[in-house]
Amino acid sequence: LSQGNRPIESALGDVTALDMSESNAPVVARLAPSPTGDLHLGHARSFLLAWWSCRRKHGRLLLRFEDLDSERAGQHWVSRTQEDLEWLGLDWDDCRLQSRGLPRITQAAMDLLAQGFAYPCVCSRGDIRSAASAPHGPTTLDVYPGTCRNKYRDLSDAEHRTGKQAGLRAVVSSRPVGLVDAVRGAYVERLDQTCGDFLILRRDKIPAYQLAVVVDDAADGVTEVVRGDDLLQSTPRQLWLFETLGLNPPAYYHVPLILNEAGKRLAKRDAAMSLRELRQLGVDPRAVVAWAARCSGISTPPRITAADALPQFDWSQLPPHPVRVTRSTLDDLLGIQT
Ligand code: GLU
Repeated sequence: LSQGNRPIESALGDVTALDMSESNAPVVARLAPSPTGDLHLGHARSFLLAWWSCRRKHGRLLLRFEDLDSERAGQHWVSRTQEDLEWLGLDWDDCRLQSRGLPRITQAAMDLLAQGFAYPCVCSRGDIRSAASAPHGPTTLDVYPGTCRNKYRDLSDAEHRTGKQAGLRAVVSSRPVGLVDAVRGAYVERLDQTCGDFLILRRDKIPAYQLAVVVDDAADGVTEVVRGDDLLQSTPRQLWLFETLGLNPPAYYHVPLILNEAGKRLAKRDAAMSLRELRQLGVDPRAVVAWAARCSGISTPPRITAADALPQFDWSQLPPHPVRVTRSTLDDLLGIQT
């Protein structure tokens, strides 16, 4: 784990890379669920880590529902998520919907266009939307070939001339962009090779995840982001946006994923693992917290509350490998009833 604000240029060469690990500034953290389904054990583990990390430093914690994907997001899931987090024993200092701040995110996209850092794009590849706007897209991103670069003056010019809806793409260069992640260490990408000019505003004018999360983390004054390490590969795009928009990036803690029996990232569709189902089956939430604590390097009795595990939390004890949830994990949890 990296400690302190060390210059890292020597390790990484001539790249834009910031060491954003621990400093003495007041900590602001966030839980950022997408309200598109019930939470599972993977969410429980990463949200507990975010909570422990923040509360250990007496930080302020925001619960932000990332609800811009209006086809999938719903108020129903917002309430259910809040109930599940409360059941786990987590608390927060503020709660809001990302959609409330939509105008400022859209404005950031338009600013990038006005400054020449973005351009209109009418490409309609079916995979663009899921690959570029979903937080957990495919691991190998398609590199956008730059088809619409230097073609259109603005969105209406693009739409008028093509008869198609236009979105916006950020113009990336060959300059490496990277960070020193507090868990994973140095990580650098050349965006022109990994994703190319990436989407910041979808063709339906909904901001892409990459832009929304950056504008909001900055607006909320977030100083640390704890999330699954499948999002590490999104971080260089986000750092590019922070830098280009003149905003301060947070420190990042990308934590190893929780996998299902088949070794795949636990997904919302793994219904057997949802917190709601465990709760309905009578599982004691303190057993779930104890499981999450154990796979975060905290030794605990079979039941513990999030608050009681807090004094033992230490980032340096986090095991570096992914954790698999098996039938026997579930059987153990089911055996510890309220
Ligand atoms: N809302 C995103 C998700 O559900 C998390 C984004 C982030 O933590 O940056 O996966």
